[in-house]
This record gives sequence, structure tokens and C-alpha cells, in this order.
Amino acid sequence: MNKMTFTKTLAFVAACLLVASTASAYQLLSPARTWDCSPDVIVDNRGQSSISDADGGVGATVGAITSNQSWNGAVSGTLLTAQAGSMSGYTLGDGIPMLNFQDPINACKGSCLAATFTGYYDQRQDGSYRIFDADIVTNGGYSWTSLSENDGCSSEFYIEGVQVHEVGHLLGLGHSGVNGSTMYPSVSSCNNGPASIANDDAAGIQALYGNSGPSCSGNPGGNPGGGCDLAQKGDSCTNDSDCCSNKCKGPNGGKTCK
Ligand SMILES: [Zn+2]
Repeated sequence: MNKMTFTKTLAFVAACLLVASTASAYQLLSPARTWDCSPDVIVDNRGQSSISDADGGVGATVGAITSNQSWNGAVSGTLLTAQAGSMSGYTLGDGIPMLNFQDPINACKGSCLAATFTGYYDQRQDGSYRIFDADIVTNGGYSWTSLSENDGCSSEFYIEGVQVHEVGHLLGLGHSGVNGSTMYPSVSSCNNGPASIANDDAAGIQALYGNSGPSCSGNPGGNPGGGCDLAQKGDSCTNDSDCCSNKCKGPNGGKTCK
């Protein structure tokens, strides 16, 4: 069984943090990793309770994360799809990417607005890394709004911009130092700028997926490790070629895949 590291990428933080203004460009998550096929993200059909549009921001979020103003506009193909659905089976690492408007894991506290669990990846036979799941949680302690709300914005955070940022993590991006980019690590209230990606964000996505994006669609499902049929990390092996990592090491008789 492949050992999966469990990390969360701390997401947007509330305004008022001073951030060093180095103009460093996009960062990929490390190690660099991609989905094999464009993921279909399930968006919490309960909505976010503080959003007073027709459906608690569900449609606004689905629209924003699949818009050509965001990630799908960075490639000629389709980078991701999304649809509303139930969170009843919300499970980290199960191969079904979900965007939760609550935080059942209680992972996102303080200035964290939302977070993405990016630790679910494994290694392909060619040594590159494959994402097989990434799930998002949202801090319900903040007041949220959407462009679909008709009472404007007052000290609220736009669900569209914050979730487009989180989906950037889901796709394999880290934070960018470019102020005004979607992957900049913080956002002010009532600023929905991150809903539209910047050139720097598009360059990061193209570094991962090329100009056309994945050539297939659909989630890998509950089969972590399924990207490679050879032995996984920690499994016993005889030769390098027995392992997905192509690295079989240890004393004779006790070799394991690394
Ligand atoms: Zn972030």
C-alpha cells in the first residue's frame, strides 16, 4: 500500500496580513503532480448558509470554477467539470474530489477561509506523480457572499474567488507571489478578483497540463494507487522494474519499493 502523506495547503487568509512583495511567479505543488483526466468536482448542494442568493452559492460556485474566466480558460480543452451533489460521502482520499461549504474536519481555523487537502497522489510508472483526489473545506465562521446576492457586499468574502483559488490547489498549483493573481495567498473582503485568473496562473496551469489540458475526463474513483499496476512503495520486490517508482532497495531477501 502506498503511504499517502496528509497535508493541507492553508488557503486564503483574511486581509490585513503583510505579505512580502516579492514578485515571484507561480509555484507548483511539490512534487509536481497532475490529474490523469479532468476531474469532476462535486459542489456541496447544501450551499453556504450565509449566502442569500437562490441556492446558497452552489450555482455561483459551480459556474465560477468551470468558467473560461478561470482554469478552463487556461487550456484549449476542459481542465475540470463540476456539479452540485451530496456531501454525505465526503471522504478524504477516496478518489472523488468534493468542495464542502463546511469544514467537517475542523482543519480551517483563524484566518483560513478555505483549504484544500493536496496530499493524495501517487507515482506513475514513468516516475511522474498523479493526483487521485483533492477535497476542499470552507470556514463557516466567515460571512460569505456571491455575485448572485442582490444586497451587495459588506465585509463578506466572495465564494467565487476563494473557491477558484482552492481549485487551483486541487489542480496542482501552490501559491504565487504575484499580487493580483488568483493563487496569491490572501484576499480582502469584497474582492472577487481571484475568480478571474491572471497570466501568471495560466502559465502555472500550462506548465502542468500543457496547452490543451487532459485528454480524458472522469475521476479515478476509490482506487488509490491505481495509476500503476506494479508494486507500490513499501511492497516487497526483487528488481527495480518490479516497482512503480523503479526503485527497489534494501538487503537481499528484504528489498522493498521506495
Ligand atoms: Zn491557497
